[in-house]
Amino acid sequence: MTKSTFHTHSRFDDGQGELEDYIESALKKNFQVFGFSGHAPVDFESDWHVQNDCLDEYIDTTKYLKEKYANKIEIYTGLETDYYDGCTDWRKKKGIDYTIGAVHFLVDENSGQKLPIDGTLKEFEDTLGNGFNNDIHALFRAYFGQIRDMLMKITPNIVAHLDVIRKNNSNNAFFDEDDIIYRDEVLKTLEIISLTNTIVEINTGGISRGYVKTPYPSVWILEACRDMDIPIMLNSDSHHPDNIDFYFEETLVVLKSMGINKQRILYKNEWCDVSL
Ligand SMILES: [Zn+2]
Ligand SMILES: [Zn+2]
Repeated sequence: MTKSTFHTHSRFDDGQGELEDYIESALKKNFQVFGFSGHAPVDFESDWHVQNDCLDEYIDTTKYLKEKYANKIEIYTGLETDYYDGCTDWRKKKGIDYTIGAVHFLVDENSGQKLPIDGTLKEFEDTLGNGFNNDIHALFRAYFGQIRDMLMKITPNIVAHLDVIRKNNSNNAFFDEDDIIYRDEVLKTLEIISLTNTIVEINTGGISRGYVKTPYPSVWILEACRDMDIPIMLNSDSHHPDNIDFYFEETLVVLKSMGINKQRILYKNEWCDVSL
């Protein structure tokens, strides 16, 4: 197995620790490939994105680490990019090797308010109530519609935590994944993922932070990816150097039992399929 993660944060955004702390942890844990994916700067005030005037330092530091550790580990520089109306296209930014496209909030058309999708339980209740009159189907359509829009307009290399809207859905508090509208929205999105040749990440970050008990996306979605030949990638979305391979072993057992034996990653500067 080529041990890797391409989804990690640090003190440059909402994670803890220096970039180098993550590489030291990666070496201890026998990683061969490591990607940084700080939250790309946004054009509104935020305390969880890399600030615009720190972006160069972020990129330069990853470059320095690439050279310093060249004989020990492959390092790549990425960004987790938010998709919203008027967002920046970071794909061509100098020094950026890849992007992970994410929808973390939806913008209310009337008020212009940002409605968080992956926040706290209270925030999700407010989003559903204030933004969608408690119509969960409308929220499904808006969220997955936004992901599809992102895939078609600013196709990222990787799509982040595809079903993150179940973050606060323990015990089916808000919806049942068997809901036909839900399944339909997910499957329509997978069609676009397949057409745009995007990688679906398997994200264990919700588990390390105590929100969910299984990785994003759910097993039935992974089965659909497998059947549609959509490439996947195992990522930790870690916000602390100790969590860079959190729940990897358990997830690998599940993937292999499903007949998923390879992942697509950047390796020797090319996107290729490597065994899990
Ligand atoms: Zn994210
Ligand atoms: Zn992330």
